[in-house]
Amino acid sequence: HVRVRYAPSPTGSLHVGGVRTALFNWLFARKNGGTFVLRIEDTDLERSTEPSVEQLKRSLRWIGLDWDEGPEVDGPHGPYRQTERFDLYREAAKKLLDSGDAYRDFATPEEMAEFRERARAEKRQPIYKGGEYRDMDPEAARRRAESGEPFTVRFKTPTEGQTVVEDLIRGPVTFENANIEDFVLMKSTDTPTYNFAAAVDDAEMKISHVIRGDDHLSNTPRQILVYGALGYDLPAFAHVPQVLGPDKKKLSKRHGAASVEDFAAQGYLPEALFNYLALLGAGYAADEEIFSPDELAERFRIERVSGNPAVFDEKKLTSINALYLRRQSPEELALIAGPMLVEAGAASPEELQRDMPRLVRIMALIKDRINRTDEIPAFVGYFYGDELAYDEAEFEKQFGKEFARETFPELVEGLKALSEDEWTEERIEQVIRGLADEKGKAARHLIHPLRFAATGRTVSAGLFETLALLGRERTLRRIERVAE
Ligand code: GLU
Repeated sequence: HVRVRYAPSPTGSLHVGGVRTALFNWLFARKNGGTFVLRIEDTDLERSTEPSVEQLKRSLRWIGLDWDEGPEVDGPHGPYRQTERFDLYREAAKKLLDSGDAYRDFATPEEMAEFRERARAEKRQPIYKGGEYRDMDPEAARRRAESGEPFTVRFKTPTEGQTVVEDLIRGPVTFENANIEDFVLMKSTDTPTYNFAAAVDDAEMKISHVIRGDDHLSNTPRQILVYGALGYDLPAFAHVPQVLGPDKKKLSKRHGAASVEDFAAQGYLPEALFNYLALLGAGYAADEEIFSPDELAERFRIERVSGNPAVFDEKKLTSINALYLRRQSPEELALIAGPMLVEAGAASPEELQRDMPRLVRIMALIKDRINRTDEIPAFVGYFYGDELAYDEAEFEKQFGKEFARETFPELVEGLKALSEDEWTEERIEQVIRGLADEKGKAARHLIHPLRFAATGRTVSAGLFETLALLGRERTLRRIERVAE
């Protein structure tokens, strides 16, 4: 049975690199009818925060990564937060002390610093193999510990041979055991290190495939050693490359957006971000790009994931996002747009509430013209509010010298002649085209200035539709200012 896990440390928000790793785990689980576990790695008590735990869960849910076991949903291998599993790590540490695979190290921080200093002076790698404590009589060590002397528990790594990580993405990666230091399992505070807790948990949670960021590749041989010493069968490993910005540096906020919440705030739809990140470096056939999560899962092959860093392409994400926007129903978009319009101060909640079908019609009008939802307030704000910031100087500059300036009063008269009931796309078009014909001019000479006067913008959806939706009164009020 396939069991995978995503194991974030709650020390910040969910980075796209992290969510891509989570996504690959999820796809692999769904593809294989397996189980996707969420484990919170919060053993770093100083850096872990509760808001970050909440943020991570919120971001995962937002993008559609539901977990089968983990916080809130629970499961047979819980608890799913490492701070609630300390007994397990202490027990495992005791087991390794008893078997002689680990030892108590009484070296003080000063002695460790000295060791590193000496290695540097002698131009050797500071690979600590325990000094005098590695082979100390365990009984004597136990007595010293019981007397209250602080110690760490270290793994006694082999001095020769090799540890090989059979990676599903990059093939075998060999590590010389002589280069693996006696790493700490339990700190002097009686709390576990990442390597120890992760290995114990992956084993106890019966994880079959460890799919994680390749920044952890050098940790994997250590975890393999722990697995071996505790007598567990090894899982399979796959190390997923990082996500880089266009400048080939790790993607960060400097590049504009880096966390799931940044992308949400910028108006990307969760489905689009999901789709884009799943395709990023995952080796799908390149002929298509819009896939549902199920379709992505069905086609997912972990072996096809590229071993090279993935370069984030915002243009591509935006174009995928635009395609997803086209697929949204106007009703769905109206639900997103409402709160945005209120937040941007473009419309009041009462105003929206009064006529929700109108907002739906507005969304139908513009949904093919925007790439991100954060464009909505600027794009449709003019449909609301009585006052439109009208830039008279700009109007003069763009249209003042043209025929439009003289024709505007007539245009206003023509439109005014339409009653509330006659205020339809067709009748509005008749009036405008009729007047243009009469004057022997192309309709655009009226359409452009009229758009600017009515919406304050030089681009909008089709003008006749736009005016129809804008409403008779609002339209007339706005264009009369120009005609005066
Ligand atoms: N807590 C680790 C991190 O956030 C996870 C490493 C792992 O998946 O084993 O980087």
